[in-house]
Amino acid sequence: PVEYVACPLVDNGRVSGIVIAFQDITERQRLDRMKDEFISTVSHELRTPLTSLRAALGLIAGGALQRRPEKVQQMFDVAIGNCDRLVRLVNDILDFERLGSGKMQLQYVQMPARDLLQRAVDLQHSSAQKANITLRVEAEPMDLWVDADRILQTLGNLISNAIKFSPAGADVLVRASVRGKAEAVIEVRDHGRGIPPEKISLIFERFQQVDASDSRAMGGTGLGLAICRRIVRQHGGQIWVESEVGKGSSFFFTVARNVAVLPTASTA
Ligand code: ADP
Repeated sequence: PVEYVACPLVDNGRVSGIVIAFQDITERQRLDRMKDEFISTVSHELRTPLTSLRAALGLIAGGALQRRPEKVQQMFDVAIGNCDRLVRLVNDILDFERLGSGKMQLQYVQMPARDLLQRAVDLQHSSAQKANITLRVEAEPMDLWVDADRILQTLGNLISNAIKFSPAGADVLVRASVRGKAEAVIEVRDHGRGIPPEKISLIFERFQQVDASDSRAMGGTGLGLAICRRIVRQHGGQIWVESEVGKGSSFFFTVARNVAVLPTASTA
């Protein structure tokens, strides 16, 4: 589709010609469509826990406390779970939006790779323990040049996915290796269910799940990997996954290793 603007050329009060500017609006229409889709998915994602929360509160307000006291604790648990989900969703939506609009300024620091990885693993310790997953860290001695909070957020998303999609008793490896002159590659490897090849290119897009039930059943928001990609790209790095169904997945991303080489910012 093409849009045009016509403008008359006036010379001494007389129209001497017309300038017509044509503009291809395919890209703009694509972006508008993506925005509409995003808003409709977000509204739907917000409505589901709200409806459930409303139902639980309605039952309690309607006298469930007197009539079925044994059920009320369960209703509170459901309500709290839905509130937590709403908070996670809203935080993820805000992060995703801020990262995309360039409003999130990175605070770079130099940090030993091992310290960063160990901190990320420590933050996931209790959920790993609950799922009976062992987290291991391997890091070559080197310093990274990163926004530590944002890279911890990325590692947190990747490690929590690795835990979610692994069977009890499995282990997850978080490793940092030197790559080239100025880069490091960080890997989060699991021995979980893996990702079918036709889904690999989709999972870094917002609200894309391999299985439609993944999001709610696993407590995710569907924005985790989309946020990871924006953070890594803003660091000037790349993110990708290698996976085999039934064997497991390895998520990789690159970051700068050398303080002298400043990464170039870009947004997804
Ligand atoms: P979610 O909040 O649903 O986890 P993500 O963006 O983090 O959203 O992940 C998108 C989807 O990619 C997940 O719902 C899941 O289907 C798939 N996925 C992500 N990580 C893994 C993994 N380690 N193993 C298998 N599937 C994964």
